[in-house]
Amino acid sequence: MNKHQIISDARTVLVTGARRGIGYTIAERLFHQGCNVVLVDVDAEDVERAAAKLDPSGVRVLPATADVSRSAEISSVLKRVEDKFGGIDILVNNAGISPKHDGKKAFVLDMDETEWRHVLDINLTSAFLCVQACLPWMKKRNWGRIINMSSQAGRTVSTIAGAHYAASKAGMIAFSRTLAAEIGADGITSNCVAPGRIVTPMAEEAGADANAAYLQRIPVHRLGNPEDIAGVVAFLASDDASFITGATIDVNGGAFMG
Ligand code: NAD
Repeated sequence: MNKHQIISDARTVLVTGARRGIGYTIAERLFHQGCNVVLVDVDAEDVERAAAKLDPSGVRVLPATADVSRSAEISSVLKRVEDKFGGIDILVNNAGISPKHDGKKAFVLDMDETEWRHVLDINLTSAFLCVQACLPWMKKRNWGRIINMSSQAGRTVSTIAGAHYAASKAGMIAFSRTLAAEIGADGITSNCVAPGRIVTPMAEEAGADANAAYLQRIPVHRLGNPEDIAGVVAFLASDDASFITGATIDVNGGAFMG
């Protein structure tokens, strides 16, 4: 028996950046709620392992290796999805990077143009491409959920992440809102989740000292964990959230109270 309430056996979710961290925990949560789960990530071995951990039978999971900043790679994943599950009902644009140099962000003046473009491609353009690929299915069914991973860095000043990351995460919010206005009448919602400091491999790259200093600024006095984010994503993916669209949900222990 699953520990969470079933959303719907028929629903299929695609989670990008799902081999580990927040993405894997979202995939796990929605799998236990009865969804079929497509796990997409760049690392083939890891994404296969993550999918096998969720469902050793392979019946309700589909591991897919793709760089989600490349439309051709997304298209080939979606062909496999169509064959196995018919389409996507819930899209979670979670893949992201936050480049550091010896644990520190690059300042704008020193930032390499290639690094700027790379971050925008992976963190923001990927969401646009995945939405374009999944939206036709959702429109056909007159139901859909798009959940975009923003960040506290896109909501207020960012000291740990670079300007490219903050710009991509603020861009995710604007993209999500514009989309929400375009697709609301089709029964499809588009929302953002903006995590604060969450303990994952990405957060660990900033180093123990930076994370310990950050802890002092969090009213609930703990760092977040991936389950804190997965629970909010599961709610936004549910029928209960059908009147919420264009919103950004801050999940940060009170570190930023918009
Ligand atoms: P993570 O590094 O553990 O996971 C990110 C995943 O994205 C990795 O599995 C990585 O392989 C994958 N990925 C990177 N580039 C990709 C690409 N081109 N195509 C497909 N997959 C790709 O990080 P996380 O902490 O779990 O972060 C998940 C999301 O949450 C990110 O968008 C991140 O910006 C956001 N976020 C994280 C925190 C935090 O404190 N951890 C805070 C705010 C927002």
